[in-house]
Amino acid sequence: MKINLESGAEYIISCLMKNGFEAFAVGGCIRDSLMGKNPSDWDICTCATPNETVYLFENLGVKTFKTGMQHGTITILYNNNTYEVTTYRVERNYFDSRHPESVNFVKNLKEDLSRRDFTVNAMAYNNQIGLVDCFDGQNDIKNKILRAVGNPQKRFSEDALRILRCLRFSSVLGFEIEKSTAKAACSLAPTLRNISVERINTEFSKIITGKNAEYILLNYTNIMTEFIPEIKSVIDFEQHNIHHIYDIWTHTVKTVINSPQDLILRLTMFFHDIGKPQCFTMEKDGMGHFYGHADISADIARKILTRLRYDNETIKTVTRLIHYHDIQLNKTEKSVKKLLNKLGESQFDRLLQVKRADTLGLNPIYHKERLKFFDEIAEIKTKILMEKQCFSLKDLAVKGGDLMEIGIPKGPVIGKILDEILNLVLENKLINDKDEIIKYVKEKFLQV
Ligand code: ATP
Ligand code: MG
Repeated sequence: MKINLESGAEYIISCLMKNGFEAFAVGGCIRDSLMGKNPSDWDICTCATPNETVYLFENLGVKTFKTGMQHGTITILYNNNTYEVTTYRVERNYFDSRHPESVNFVKNLKEDLSRRDFTVNAMAYNNQIGLVDCFDGQNDIKNKILRAVGNPQKRFSEDALRILRCLRFSSVLGFEIEKSTAKAACSLAPTLRNISVERINTEFSKIITGKNAEYILLNYTNIMTEFIPEIKSVIDFEQHNIHHIYDIWTHTVKTVINSPQDLILRLTMFFHDIGKPQCFTMEKDGMGHFYGHADISADIARKILTRLRYDNETIKTVTRLIHYHDIQLNKTEKSVKKLLNKLGESQFDRLLQVKRADTLGLNPIYHKERLKFFDEIAEIKTKILMEKQCFSLKDLAVKGGDLMEIGIPKGPVIGKILDEILNLVLENKLINDKDEIIKYVKEKFLQV
Protein backbone atom coordinates (compact mmCIF):
# COMPACT_ATOMS: atom_id res chain seq x y z
CA MET A 1 0.00 0.00 0.00
CA LYS A 2 1.57 3.25 -1.15
CA ILE A 3 0.33 6.63 0.02
CA ASN A 4 1.65 9.83 -1.50
CA LEU A 5 2.77 11.84 1.48
CA GLU A 6 2.47 15.58 1.10
CA SER A 7 5.93 17.09 0.69
CA GLY A 8 6.10 18.93 4.05
CA ALA A 9 4.84 15.90 5.96
CA GLU A 10 7.36 13.72 4.15
CA TYR A 11 10.18 16.14 5.04
CA ILE A 12 9.26 16.23 8.74
CA ILE A 13 8.88 12.46 8.97
CA SER A 14 12.19 11.84 7.20
CA CYS A 15 14.04 14.34 9.44
CA LEU A 16 12.73 12.59 12.53
CA MET A 17 13.60 9.16 11.14
CA LYS A 18 17.10 10.20 10.09
CA ASN A 19 17.67 11.20 13.68
CA GLY A 20 16.66 7.79 14.95
CA PHE A 21 13.02 8.46 15.87
CA GLU A 22 9.90 6.71 14.66
CA ALA A 23 7.51 9.02 12.84
CA PHE A 24 4.28 8.51 10.89
CA ALA A 25 1.54 10.48 9.23
CA VAL A 26 -1.56 9.53 11.18
CA GLY A 27 -5.34 9.88 11.50
CA GLY A 28 -7.55 11.84 9.12
CA CYS A 29 -4.88 12.33 6.44
CA ILE A 30 -4.40 8.58 6.06
CA ARG A 31 -8.16 7.96 6.08
CA ASP A 32 -8.71 10.61 3.40
CA SER A 33 -5.77 9.40 1.27
CA LEU A 34 -7.10 5.84 1.32
CA MET A 35 -10.49 7.18 0.27
CA GLY A 36 -8.92 9.05 -2.64
CA LYS A 37 -9.61 12.46 -1.11
CA ASN A 38 -7.26 15.36 -0.56
CA PRO A 39 -6.48 15.59 3.19
CA SER A 40 -7.14 19.00 4.75
CA ASP A 41 -4.12 18.68 7.03
CA TRP A 42 -1.33 16.24 7.79
CA ASP A 43 -0.84 15.20 11.42
CA ILE A 44 2.31 13.41 12.45
CA CYS A 45 2.99 11.18 15.43
CA THR A 46 6.42 10.26 16.71
CA CYS A 47 8.25 8.62 19.58
CA ALA A 48 10.38 11.79 19.96
CA THR A 49 9.44 13.87 22.98
CA PRO A 50 8.18 17.43 22.35
CA ASN A 51 11.53 18.84 23.50
CA GLU A 52 13.44 16.50 21.21
CA THR A 53 11.25 17.54 18.28
CA VAL A 54 11.75 21.25 19.00
CA TYR A 55 15.51 20.82 19.40
CA LEU A 56 15.85 18.88 16.16
CA PHE A 57 13.86 21.28 13.96
CA GLU A 58 15.19 24.50 15.50
CA ASN A 59 18.68 23.18 14.70
CA LEU A 60 17.59 22.73 11.10
CA GLY A 61 16.35 26.33 11.07
CA VAL A 62 12.69 25.25 10.91
CA LYS A 63 10.25 27.25 13.04
CA THR A 64 8.41 25.38 15.80
CA PHE A 65 5.66 26.48 18.18
CA LYS A 66 4.88 24.92 21.52
CA THR A 67 1.13 24.94 20.87
CA GLY A 68 0.05 22.02 23.02
CA MET A 69 2.92 20.93 25.23
CA GLN A 70 0.56 19.39 27.80
CA HIS A 71 -0.77 17.07 25.05
CA GLY A 72 2.71 16.56 23.64
CA THR A 73 1.97 18.60 20.52
CA ILE A 74 4.40 20.85 18.66
CA THR A 75 3.37 22.82 15.61
CA ILE A 76 5.95 23.03 12.85
CA LEU A 77 5.86 25.76 10.24
CA TYR A 78 7.35 24.53 6.99
CA ASN A 79 6.86 25.96 3.49
CA ASN A 80 3.99 28.14 4.74
CA ASN A 81 2.12 25.10 6.02
CA THR A 82 1.65 24.04 9.61
CA TYR A 83 1.99 20.47 10.83
CA GLU A 84 1.07 19.14 14.25
CA VAL A 85 3.65 16.72 15.54
CA THR A 86 2.45 14.79 18.57
CA THR A 87 4.40 12.43 20.77
CA TYR A 88 2.86 8.95 21.07
CA ARG A 89 0.50 9.03 23.93
CA VAL A 90 -2.19 7.20 25.84
CA GLU A 91 -4.58 9.04 28.04
CA ARG A 92 -5.66 7.66 31.37
CA ASN A 93 -8.28 8.49 34.01
CA TYR A 94 -10.88 10.66 32.35
CA PHE A 95 -12.59 12.71 35.05
CA ASP A 96 -15.49 14.47 33.32
CA SER A 97 -16.26 12.56 30.11
CA ARG A 98 -13.98 14.94 28.29
CA HIS A 99 -10.56 15.73 29.72
CA PRO A 100 -7.82 13.23 30.46
CA GLU A 101 -6.17 13.79 33.84
CA SER A 102 -2.75 12.92 32.66
CA VAL A 103 -1.08 12.16 29.41
CA ASN A 104 1.57 9.48 29.51
CA PHE A 105 3.96 9.46 26.65
CA VAL A 106 4.50 5.96 25.42
CA LYS A 107 7.10 4.77 23.05
CA ASN A 108 4.71 2.64 21.15
CA LEU A 109 2.71 3.42 18.05
CA LYS A 110 0.11 0.75 18.63
CA GLU A 111 -0.83 2.20 22.00
CA ASP A 112 -1.09 5.63 20.44
CA LEU A 113 -3.40 4.29 17.76
CA SER A 114 -5.53 2.50 20.34
CA ARG A 115 -6.53 5.78 22.02
CA ARG A 116 -7.87 7.19 18.76
CA ASP A 117 -11.61 7.33 18.25
CA PHE A 118 -12.53 5.25 15.18
CA THR A 119 -10.77 2.47 13.30
CA VAL A 120 -10.73 4.57 10.12
CA ASN A 121 -8.94 7.34 12.06
CA ALA A 122 -6.46 4.95 13.71
CA MET A 123 -4.05 4.22 10.88
CA ALA A 124 -0.52 5.48 10.40
CA TYR A 125 1.88 5.49 7.47
CA ASN A 126 5.44 6.23 6.55
CA ASN A 127 7.39 5.33 3.42
CA GLN A 128 9.67 2.90 5.19
CA ILE A 129 7.18 0.77 7.12
CA GLY A 130 4.10 1.39 4.97
CA LEU A 131 0.60 1.30 6.40
CA VAL A 132 0.11 0.43 10.09
CA ASP A 133 -3.48 -0.67 10.52
CA CYS A 134 -3.89 -2.52 13.84
CA PHE A 135 -7.70 -2.22 14.00
CA ASP A 136 -8.70 -3.12 10.46
CA GLY A 137 -9.52 0.45 9.49
CA GLN A 138 -8.81 -0.25 5.84
CA ASN A 139 -11.50 -2.92 5.78
CA ASP A 140 -13.96 -0.57 7.48
CA ILE A 141 -13.25 2.07 4.83
CA LYS A 142 -13.88 -0.52 2.14
CA ASN A 143 -17.20 -1.48 3.76
CA LYS A 144 -18.04 2.12 4.71
CA ILE A 145 -18.36 1.35 8.40
CA LEU A 146 -17.62 3.66 11.31
CA ARG A 147 -16.49 1.59 14.29
CA ALA A 148 -15.07 2.71 17.62
CA VAL A 149 -11.56 1.48 18.44
CA GLY A 150 -11.97 -1.00 21.32
CA ASN A 151 -15.05 -1.05 23.56
CA PRO A 152 -17.42 1.67 22.33
CA GLN A 153 -19.17 2.09 25.69
CA LYS A 154 -15.80 2.70 27.32
CA ARG A 155 -14.53 4.98 24.52
CA PHE A 156 -17.63 7.20 24.55
CA SER A 157 -17.60 7.31 28.36
CA GLU A 158 -14.02 8.57 28.26
CA ASP A 159 -14.93 11.43 25.95
CA ALA A 160 -18.50 12.33 25.02
CA LEU A 161 -17.30 14.47 22.11
CA ARG A 162 -16.64 11.18 20.31
CA ILE A 163 -20.42 10.63 20.17
CA LEU A 164 -20.82 13.74 18.04
CA ARG A 165 -17.67 12.97 16.03
CA CYS A 166 -19.25 9.60 15.34
CA LEU A 167 -22.37 11.18 13.84
CA ARG A 168 -20.23 13.74 12.02
CA PHE A 169 -17.90 11.24 10.34
CA SER A 170 -20.86 9.06 9.41
CA SER A 171 -22.64 12.02 7.84
CA VAL A 172 -19.59 13.48 6.09
CA LEU A 173 -18.02 10.23 4.89
CA GLY A 174 -21.30 8.48 4.14
CA PHE A 175 -20.46 5.57 6.46
CA GLU A 176 -22.89 3.44 8.42
CA ILE A 177 -22.29 3.31 12.17
CA GLU A 178 -21.46 -0.20 13.38
CA LYS A 179 -24.15 -1.66 15.65
CA SER A 180 -22.43 -1.72 19.04
CA THR A 181 -20.84 1.68 18.34
CA ALA A 182 -24.31 3.06 17.54
CA LYS A 183 -25.84 1.49 20.63
CA ALA A 184 -23.19 2.99 22.91
CA ALA A 185 -23.50 6.42 21.29
CA CYS A 186 -27.28 6.44 21.84
CA SER A 187 -27.13 5.17 25.40
CA LEU A 188 -24.48 7.71 26.42
CA ALA A 189 -26.15 10.66 24.64
CA PRO A 190 -27.05 12.35 27.98
CA THR A 191 -23.31 12.77 28.72
CA LEU A 192 -23.21 15.36 25.90
CA ARG A 193 -24.07 17.89 28.61
CA ASN A 194 -20.33 17.82 29.45
CA ILE A 195 -19.43 19.09 25.99
CA SER A 196 -18.87 22.78 25.38
CA VAL A 197 -21.38 24.56 23.20
CA GLU A 198 -18.61 25.58 20.75
CA ARG A 199 -17.76 21.92 20.12
CA ILE A 200 -21.46 21.10 19.70
CA ASN A 201 -21.76 23.96 17.22
CA THR A 202 -18.82 22.69 15.13
CA GLU A 203 -19.99 19.08 15.06
CA PHE A 204 -23.67 19.91 14.51
CA SER A 205 -22.74 22.12 11.54
CA LYS A 206 -20.70 19.31 10.01
CA ILE A 207 -23.43 16.74 10.67
CA ILE A 208 -26.15 18.70 8.89
CA THR A 209 -23.95 19.66 5.94
CA GLY A 210 -22.76 16.08 5.42
CA LYS A 211 -23.95 14.00 2.47
CA ASN A 212 -25.33 11.33 4.80
CA ALA A 213 -27.30 13.75 7.00
CA GLU A 214 -30.61 11.97 6.36
CA TYR A 215 -29.38 8.71 7.86
CA ILE A 216 -28.11 10.51 10.98
CA LEU A 217 -31.09 12.80 11.49
CA LEU A 218 -33.63 10.01 11.13
CA ASN A 219 -31.78 7.31 13.06
CA TYR A 220 -30.02 9.30 15.77
CA THR A 221 -32.71 11.83 16.61
CA ASN A 222 -32.41 11.00 20.31
CA ILE A 223 -28.81 12.28 20.25
CA MET A 224 -29.82 15.51 18.50
CA THR A 225 -32.57 16.16 21.05
CA GLU A 226 -29.94 16.23 23.81
CA PHE A 227 -28.80 19.64 22.63
CA ILE A 228 -31.85 20.74 20.62
CA PRO A 229 -34.78 19.47 22.74
CA GLU A 230 -37.13 21.75 20.75
CA ILE A 231 -37.23 19.22 17.90
CA LYS A 232 -39.07 16.73 20.11
CA SER A 233 -42.32 18.60 19.40
CA VAL A 234 -42.13 18.02 15.62
CA ILE A 235 -41.23 14.34 15.71
CA ASP A 236 -44.22 12.22 14.62
CA PHE A 237 -46.40 15.35 14.35
CA GLU A 238 -48.83 14.46 11.55
CA GLN A 239 -49.73 17.36 9.27
CA HIS A 240 -53.21 16.30 8.03
CA ASN A 241 -52.73 18.22 4.81
CA ILE A 242 -53.02 17.03 1.21
CA HIS A 243 -49.61 18.44 0.33
CA HIS A 244 -47.86 16.39 2.97
CA ILE A 245 -47.13 12.70 3.25
CA TYR A 246 -44.63 12.96 6.11
CA ASP A 247 -44.80 14.07 9.75
CA ILE A 248 -43.08 17.43 10.38
CA TRP A 249 -39.73 15.93 11.41
CA THR A 250 -39.47 13.57 8.43
CA HIS A 251 -40.50 16.42 6.12
CA THR A 252 -37.82 18.60 7.75
CA VAL A 253 -35.13 15.98 7.18
CA LYS A 254 -36.19 15.51 3.54
CA THR A 255 -35.87 19.26 2.99
CA VAL A 256 -32.45 19.35 4.68
CA ILE A 257 -31.03 16.69 2.38
CA ASN A 258 -32.62 18.24 -0.67
CA SER A 259 -30.84 21.55 -0.09
CA PRO A 260 -27.24 22.22 -1.16
CA GLN A 261 -24.54 21.24 1.38
CA ASP A 262 -24.24 24.81 2.59
CA LEU A 263 -24.52 25.71 6.28
CA ILE A 264 -26.95 28.64 5.89
CA LEU A 265 -29.36 26.66 3.74
CA ARG A 266 -29.18 23.53 5.84
CA LEU A 267 -29.74 25.44 9.09
CA THR A 268 -32.68 27.17 7.46
CA MET A 269 -34.26 23.90 6.41
CA PHE A 270 -33.50 22.27 9.77
CA PHE A 271 -35.49 24.93 11.62
CA HIS A 272 -37.98 26.18 9.00
CA ASP A 273 -41.01 24.36 10.40
CA ILE A 274 -40.03 24.02 14.05
CA GLY A 275 -42.85 26.36 15.11
CA LYS A 276 -45.55 24.40 13.27
CA PRO A 277 -46.94 22.48 16.26
CA GLN A 278 -47.69 25.78 18.03
CA CYS A 279 -49.76 26.99 15.06
CA PHE A 280 -51.69 23.85 14.24
CA THR A 281 -55.40 24.19 13.52
CA MET A 282 -57.76 21.69 11.94
CA GLU A 283 -60.76 22.59 9.85
CA LYS A 284 -64.08 20.78 9.98
CA ASP A 285 -63.14 18.78 6.90
CA GLY A 286 -60.11 17.41 8.75
CA MET A 287 -57.55 19.53 6.88
CA GLY A 288 -54.63 20.78 8.99
CA HIS A 289 -53.18 24.31 8.74
CA PHE A 290 -50.24 26.09 10.34
CA TYR A 291 -51.02 29.78 9.90
CA GLY A 292 -48.19 32.05 11.06
CA HIS A 293 -45.70 29.21 11.48
CA ALA A 294 -42.92 30.97 9.55
CA ASP A 295 -42.60 33.74 12.14
CA ILE A 296 -42.89 31.41 15.13
CA SER A 297 -40.28 29.10 13.57
CA ALA A 298 -37.95 32.06 12.96
CA ASP A 299 -38.30 33.09 16.64
CA ILE A 300 -37.58 29.59 17.92
CA ALA A 301 -34.64 29.24 15.49
CA ARG A 302 -33.19 32.55 16.72
CA LYS A 303 -33.25 31.32 20.31
CA ILE A 304 -31.64 27.98 19.45
CA LEU A 305 -28.98 29.44 17.14
CA THR A 306 -28.10 32.04 19.76
CA ARG A 307 -27.83 29.35 22.42
CA LEU A 308 -25.58 27.31 20.10
CA ARG A 309 -23.43 30.43 19.62
CA TYR A 310 -23.78 30.89 15.89
CA ASP A 311 -22.49 34.29 14.77
CA ASN A 312 -24.95 37.16 14.39
CA GLU A 313 -24.70 37.27 10.61
CA THR A 314 -25.61 33.58 10.31
CA ILE A 315 -28.51 33.98 12.75
CA LYS A 316 -29.84 37.00 10.87
CA THR A 317 -29.56 35.39 7.44
CA VAL A 318 -31.11 32.09 8.53
CA THR A 319 -34.00 33.60 10.49
CA ARG A 320 -34.87 35.95 7.62
CA LEU A 321 -35.00 33.02 5.22
CA ILE A 322 -37.23 31.12 7.64
CA HIS A 323 -39.44 34.19 7.97
CA TYR A 324 -39.86 34.37 4.17
CA HIS A 325 -39.85 30.64 3.39
CA ASP A 326 -43.61 30.39 2.97
CA ILE A 327 -44.34 33.60 1.05
CA GLN A 328 -46.26 33.46 -2.17
CA LEU A 329 -44.16 34.25 -5.23
CA ASN A 330 -45.64 35.78 -8.37
CA LYS A 331 -44.44 35.21 -11.88
CA THR A 332 -44.24 38.89 -12.82
CA GLU A 333 -41.23 41.14 -13.29
CA LYS A 334 -42.75 43.68 -10.94
CA SER A 335 -43.11 41.28 -8.05
CA VAL A 336 -39.69 39.68 -8.64
CA LYS A 337 -38.10 43.15 -8.65
CA LYS A 338 -39.86 44.06 -5.41
CA LEU A 339 -38.58 40.90 -3.76
CA LEU A 340 -35.08 41.46 -5.13
CA ASN A 341 -35.16 44.93 -3.62
CA LYS A 342 -36.37 43.61 -0.28
CA LEU A 343 -33.98 40.66 0.00
CA GLY A 344 -30.96 41.49 -2.14
CA GLU A 345 -29.73 39.18 -4.84
CA SER A 346 -28.00 36.49 -2.78
CA GLN A 347 -30.86 36.11 -0.30
CA PHE A 348 -33.28 35.98 -3.23
CA ASP A 349 -31.30 33.09 -4.72
CA ARG A 350 -31.19 31.36 -1.36
CA LEU A 351 -34.92 31.79 -0.92
CA LEU A 352 -35.51 29.99 -4.22
CA GLN A 353 -33.27 27.17 -3.03
CA VAL A 354 -35.19 27.02 0.24
CA LYS A 355 -38.46 26.84 -1.65
CA ARG A 356 -37.15 24.11 -3.93
CA ALA A 357 -35.95 22.08 -0.94
CA ASP A 358 -39.24 22.64 0.87
CA THR A 359 -41.09 21.38 -2.21
CA LEU A 360 -39.00 18.23 -2.34
CA GLY A 361 -40.25 17.41 1.17
CA LEU A 362 -43.87 17.42 -0.06
CA ASN A 363 -45.95 14.72 -1.66
CA PRO A 364 -44.07 13.95 -4.93
CA ILE A 365 -47.16 14.67 -7.04
CA TYR A 366 -46.52 18.39 -6.43
CA HIS A 367 -42.79 18.39 -7.23
CA LYS A 368 -42.73 18.85 -11.00
CA GLU A 369 -45.16 21.72 -11.28
CA ARG A 370 -43.69 23.66 -8.36
CA LEU A 371 -40.08 23.20 -9.37
CA LYS A 372 -40.97 24.43 -12.86
CA PHE A 373 -42.56 27.49 -11.29
CA PHE A 374 -39.36 28.29 -9.33
CA ASP A 375 -37.31 27.83 -12.50
CA GLU A 376 -39.51 30.38 -14.21
CA ILE A 377 -39.07 32.83 -11.34
CA ALA A 378 -35.30 32.32 -11.61
CA GLU A 379 -35.50 33.07 -15.33
CA ILE A 380 -37.35 36.30 -14.68
CA LYS A 381 -34.67 37.28 -12.18
CA THR A 382 -31.92 36.53 -14.69
CA LYS A 383 -33.70 38.64 -17.31
CA ILE A 384 -34.01 41.57 -14.87
CA LEU A 385 -30.30 41.40 -14.12
CA MET A 386 -29.25 40.92 -17.74
CA GLU A 387 -31.29 43.92 -18.79
CA LYS A 388 -29.85 45.84 -15.85
CA GLN A 389 -33.36 46.77 -14.81
CA CYS A 390 -33.68 48.92 -11.75
CA PHE A 391 -34.77 47.15 -8.57
CA SER A 392 -32.95 48.96 -5.78
CA LEU A 393 -31.96 52.49 -4.73
CA LYS A 394 -28.47 51.98 -6.05
CA ASP A 395 -29.86 51.33 -9.55
CA LEU A 396 -31.96 54.53 -9.58
CA ALA A 397 -30.97 57.08 -12.20
CA VAL A 398 -30.96 59.81 -9.53
CA LYS A 399 -29.12 60.01 -6.22
CA GLY A 400 -29.68 62.19 -3.15
CA GLY A 401 -27.22 64.77 -4.50
CA ASP A 402 -29.30 65.24 -7.67
CA LEU A 403 -32.34 66.07 -5.56
CA MET A 404 -30.41 68.59 -3.44
CA GLU A 405 -29.17 70.26 -6.61
CA ILE A 406 -32.72 71.07 -7.64
CA GLY A 407 -33.50 72.46 -4.21
CA ILE A 408 -34.78 69.59 -2.05
CA PRO A 409 -33.40 70.29 1.43
CA LYS A 410 -30.83 67.93 2.92
CA GLY A 411 -32.33 65.56 5.52
CA PRO A 412 -34.71 62.60 5.86
CA VAL A 413 -37.01 63.97 3.17
CA ILE A 414 -34.43 62.99 0.53
CA GLY A 415 -34.63 59.33 1.56
CA LYS A 416 -38.43 59.44 1.57
CA ILE A 417 -38.56 60.89 -1.95
CA LEU A 418 -36.02 58.34 -3.26
CA ASP A 419 -38.11 55.51 -1.76
CA GLU A 420 -41.21 56.86 -3.42
CA ILE A 421 -39.45 57.14 -6.77
CA LEU A 422 -38.12 53.61 -6.50
CA ASN A 423 -41.57 52.33 -5.74
CA LEU A 424 -43.00 54.06 -8.77
CA VAL A 425 -40.22 52.64 -10.95
CA LEU A 426 -40.87 49.12 -9.59
CA GLU A 427 -44.56 49.60 -10.29
CA ASN A 428 -43.68 50.66 -13.87
CA LYS A 429 -45.37 54.00 -13.20
CA LEU A 430 -42.21 56.02 -13.77
CA ILE A 431 -39.29 55.42 -16.12
CA ASN A 432 -35.84 55.10 -14.55
CA ASP A 433 -34.47 58.05 -16.46
CA LYS A 434 -32.81 61.02 -14.82
CA ASP A 435 -34.70 63.73 -16.72
CA GLU A 436 -38.06 62.01 -16.22
CA ILE A 437 -37.48 61.55 -12.53
CA ILE A 438 -36.27 65.12 -11.99
CA LYS A 439 -39.30 66.38 -13.88
CA TYR A 440 -41.58 64.30 -11.63
CA VAL A 441 -39.88 65.50 -8.44
CA LYS A 442 -40.03 69.13 -9.50
CA GLU A 443 -43.73 68.86 -10.31
CA LYS A 444 -44.67 67.00 -7.19
CA PHE A 445 -42.38 68.48 -4.55
CA LEU A 446 -41.17 71.89 -5.69
CA GLN A 447 -44.21 73.58 -7.21
CA VAL A 448 -46.24 75.71 -4.94
P1 ATP B 1 -10.78 16.22 9.89
O1 ATP B 1 -10.93 15.86 8.47
O2 ATP B 1 -12.01 16.85 10.47
O3 ATP B 1 -9.54 17.01 10.22
P2 ATP B 1 -9.55 14.20 11.48
O4 ATP B 1 -9.77 12.73 11.56
O5 ATP B 1 -8.20 14.65 11.00
O6 ATP B 1 -10.70 14.80 10.61
P3 ATP B 1 -9.02 15.75 13.84
O7 ATP B 1 -10.00 16.35 14.78
O8 ATP B 1 -8.15 16.64 13.02
O9 ATP B 1 -9.86 14.76 12.91
O10 ATP B 1 -8.12 14.75 14.70
C1 ATP B 1 -7.00 14.08 14.16
C2 ATP B 1 -6.98 12.64 14.69
O11 ATP B 1 -6.89 12.65 16.11
C3 ATP B 1 -8.22 11.84 14.37
O12 ATP B 1 -8.15 11.23 13.10
C4 ATP B 1 -8.22 10.81 15.49
O13 ATP B 1 -7.29 9.80 15.22
C5 ATP B 1 -7.67 11.61 16.67
N1 ATP B 1 -8.74 12.25 17.49
C6 ATP B 1 -9.21 13.51 17.39
N2 ATP B 1 -10.10 13.78 18.33
C7 ATP B 1 -10.24 12.66 19.06
C8 ATP B 1 -11.02 12.30 20.19
N3 ATP B 1 -11.89 13.16 20.74
N4 ATP B 1 -10.87 11.05 20.69
C9 ATP B 1 -9.99 10.19 20.14
N5 ATP B 1 -9.25 10.45 19.09
C10 ATP B 1 -9.35 11.68 18.53
MG1 MG C 1 -7.49 16.69 10.93
